[in-house]
Amino acid sequence: MRGSVIVNRRAAFERAAGYYALRGTTRANRRPVWGTRNLPETIDPARSTIHDPRSAAICRAILIHIEDGVSSQQKTFYIETFGCQMNFHDSEKVVGTLISEGYQQVQREEDADLIFYNTCSIRDKAEQKVFHRLNDFKKLHKEGKRFGVLGCVAQQEGEKIFERAPYVSLVAGSASYRNLPEMLVQIEAGAGRVTGLDDRETDQTFETEFTARSNPHRGYITIIEGCDKFCAYCVVPYTRGKERSRTSQSVLDEAKRMADVGYTDIQLLGQNVNSYRDPAGKMRFSELLSAIGELLGIRRVRFTTSHPRDFTKDIVDAIDAVPALCDHVHLPVQSGSSRLLSSMFREYTREQYLERIAWIKSARNKEISITTDVIVGFPGETEAEFGETLSLLDEVGYDGVFSFKYSPRPNTPSLQYIDSIPDAEKSRRLQVLQERQREIQRASYARHLGQVLEVMVEGKNAARGQVIGRTSQNKTLNFVTNGGREPDAGQYVDVEVTQIFPNSLLGKMVG
Ligand code: SAM
Ligand code: SF4
Repeated sequence: MRGSVIVNRRAAFERAAGYYALRGTTRANRRPVWGTRNLPETIDPARSTIHDPRSAAICRAILIHIEDGVSSQQKTFYIETFGCQMNFHDSEKVVGTLISEGYQQVQREEDADLIFYNTCSIRDKAEQKVFHRLNDFKKLHKEGKRFGVLGCVAQQEGEKIFERAPYVSLVAGSASYRNLPEMLVQIEAGAGRVTGLDDRETDQTFETEFTARSNPHRGYITIIEGCDKFCAYCVVPYTRGKERSRTSQSVLDEAKRMADVGYTDIQLLGQNVNSYRDPAGKMRFSELLSAIGELLGIRRVRFTTSHPRDFTKDIVDAIDAVPALCDHVHLPVQSGSSRLLSSMFREYTREQYLERIAWIKSARNKEISITTDVIVGFPGETEAEFGETLSLLDEVGYDGVFSFKYSPRPNTPSLQYIDSIPDAEKSRRLQVLQERQREIQRASYARHLGQVLEVMVEGKNAARGQVIGRTSQNKTLNFVTNGGREPDAGQYVDVEVTQIFPNSLLGKMVG
């Protein structure tokens, strides 16, 4: 690679192994401590908001069951979630765990005894943002409040957080959440510096019956945690630890429990769901997908994220065969240049990626929508290689692209590459790519004009007099009812598409 150090994949693994070894692993605390107390009724969907869950923007995710009057004796907590769906769902499990331990959730930091930030460090200077945010609450510490930093920034910065923000009492990465009840006991006993940072080599997943889902119709289930891929730019393997799957039986049991209480839409989560390996050896990923799609009451099943290297044809066959499996695949490509893909350690070429796209497009019973992630300005990306990414967008005809400027991340192999593209040039490439994608989407969304599509109702936009719906392809389809009764959130209705926009559709309810 021009102007950069060659870093190989093995070095990335060794680096990670050393990193784990340095921190050591404590196995002593691995006692499952989940109690049998009942989870109180916790759902208030009207109060739940997710602001662009894929962005690093604040995702003030979980506002559940805010009682009119919080008893003065009850311990209270506030939680704020940053980042991706995995973080959002982790917070649902953390909230459930806290409630099961006798805490009450409140919606203002001022009202809480314990304040948590579930953080993300995938891009930018996320850690600085967290420190800024913590600084805002210094004064609250004087009022006796305790602070906990959770998630990727917690894992990445570790005990340094205590040095910079001495009023923080808890620092824990996601691989330690199953020890949360024990950590809470320590905080309640007055411990000043409680950590959950040493568990990234664990084989255990964070399974809890106390998940406080904030939407009563559509819910997440984690099937695999961590990641062993070590893409050159990515912090996830260092923050979320090694890959570990749940048994298919435990996933199916959870899905069935959700179906029994009225969930119809399930999204399976993992950093790389395609490398799912049932520890009991019973089911492949595609079989697990089909089994969930066949559960009574389940109408939609999605999954994210797929890694192209591990994406196999039987997944397309399952989507094609089982009606409840949504006609949408998110298959992050990152770059259209095989040279760059190799330097990113992505383990596939442009041609192999396009082979998977051809499988998806050849589904016989469904037209499967395809979306992707792209990084622009990766170290050494030439103008011609950027052009290869643009031509790939044309060739695939994506229904959506999440695009990011490369940002160097701590501990990652690409830190040793020279970040050769100036920020202004990264911004230009990002803009060019997004404009190109807008054009592609305008043309591809036009195919929906006049179609009747089934949507799940998500809510209302009172200002516009529209109902908000989501199609099986994960597109927003807002609609009017023309004087008919407005359907409730969670209902499925048919909508005729009357207008298209770059990122959404508009229509009218039929029937
Ligand atoms: N596991 C998923 C995969 O393999 O595609 C991606 C998970 S990551 C949370 C989501 C996206 O963030 C990635 O697909 C990538 O496009 C982007 N991303 C990750 N690290 C990045 C970095 N250092 N700079 C810019 N974008 C990054
Ligand atoms: Fe990160 Fe995804 Fe690569 Fe894992 S597969 S290292 S989560 S980009």
